[in-house]
Amino acid sequence: MAYKFVAGLEIHVQLKTKSKMFCSCPTEGPDTPNSRVCPICLGHPGTLPVINKEAVLMTLALGKAMNARINRVSKFHRKNYFYPDLPKGYQITQYDVPLIEDGVFVMITGKKVPIRRIHLEEDAAKSVHIGSSGRLTGSQQILLDFNRSGIPLAEIVTEPVFESPEEVAMFVEELQATLRYLGISDAMMENGQLRCDVNVSVEVDGKEGTRVEIKNMNSTKAIRQALSFEYERHVRAYEAGVQLQVETRTFDEQSGETKAMRRKETSEDYRYFPEPDLLELHVTDELMEEANKYNGSFHEAYKDALTWLGREKEARALALNKEQFSVFKALVTKGGDIKYVSRAVLIELPNMLSEEGKSWDQLNESHLSSIIDLLTQGKITMAVARELLWQTVRGNDPLEYARSHGLLNAGATDLEAVVADVLAKNPDVVEKYKKGNTNVLSFLVGQVMKQTKGTAKPDAVREVLIKRLSE
Ligand SMILES: [Zn+2]
Repeated sequence: MAYKFVAGLEIHVQLKTKSKMFCSCPTEGPDTPNSRVCPICLGHPGTLPVINKEAVLMTLALGKAMNARINRVSKFHRKNYFYPDLPKGYQITQYDVPLIEDGVFVMITGKKVPIRRIHLEEDAAKSVHIGSSGRLTGSQQILLDFNRSGIPLAEIVTEPVFESPEEVAMFVEELQATLRYLGISDAMMENGQLRCDVNVSVEVDGKEGTRVEIKNMNSTKAIRQALSFEYERHVRAYEAGVQLQVETRTFDEQSGETKAMRRKETSEDYRYFPEPDLLELHVTDELMEEANKYNGSFHEAYKDALTWLGREKEARALALNKEQFSVFKALVTKGGDIKYVSRAVLIELPNMLSEEGKSWDQLNESHLSSIIDLLTQGKITMAVARELLWQTVRGNDPLEYARSHGLLNAGATDLEAVVADVLAKNPDVVEKYKKGNTNVLSFLVGQVMKQTKGTAKPDAVREVLIKRLSE
């Protein structure tokens, strides 16, 4: 039998507005539970919602980025269900007329992913399960934190066009980057700012398979694992002639498996009806215009990165990391040599930042730029540049450090004298070399580099050493 992986996505994105979707409570601030709440987001009877304009603008910007149709008049509905984290007993969302429809997301591979719709809604509160497992099952208490209640969400629904777990993961990575460049969400999966539900089925000889929804994947790595596991599970069931259930499954990161969670609700279960407390949402020309302030582009970043790096895979990796990309761009724009900028930004700094527990936005760009300048002008060696990068990452001024430690004289030290000194101090090594063991040369180069504090150029050191050793 021929099997084919098929998947479509529903992605919830927390928009980076200052206040919540239907009230003025702040979306960020102290994490003390229930410290950012009011009668509206607590769902008290008689309160009235007011639509957050910024959330609308952000969603419009996303729609524009996906070349989508923007419905100039859209509606809000009530989606009714009971759950402790939803005290109103319904969620305000959009149903038959969403803000955005029929878009296209073009992936770096060139694949065009049709976007069925993007609608606005409010987030629910967060349930905290107290107990050994941290999950509902077996927990002694459930605590509710309403800080999240009412945070604006954009729900993005794709057509089921994904053909492999890897393709799904790559799409999510590129969507994350798109949201970050636009400046409308931080889209961190581990913080729940981007939550991805995947509808998976496996076609058998061209016939549609049983559809299952997978939830709770907190990283793109988890998406790859969960979907690969699910594909294998479906294939095994079809091979064995076992009937698969239409259901919602959750991914367990520990075991790497998906587990049955509940029967999937259909839209009839939710008794949708128009939200009587809100008027229709009218998108004016002014709003359309104002939405253009969110205009950063992942694709533009990728194009730049490709020009600098030449290789698609590396360019994609750089463009996916907005902060790293912006440091790279700043250095190149200031005239830095691509070769040195690549070495510093792609190889040295990622390790240094992770070792020091710092992030890209904590780096001082003018300090970095001066290090690249010194390299480009040949005033320092790569070894010195590394030392100066460390100083920058630690928050010190690299120029000051270089001056006070005498590191600015690449090539200016009397190399001949240092080499003579090193040879004199290591007669046994010299003898080994003369007996034909040329491997010891790198030891001698290292000694010279050490004595010159890395200011000498390794090639020059090697040259002088060979010359002196052959005398
Ligand atoms: Zn509120």
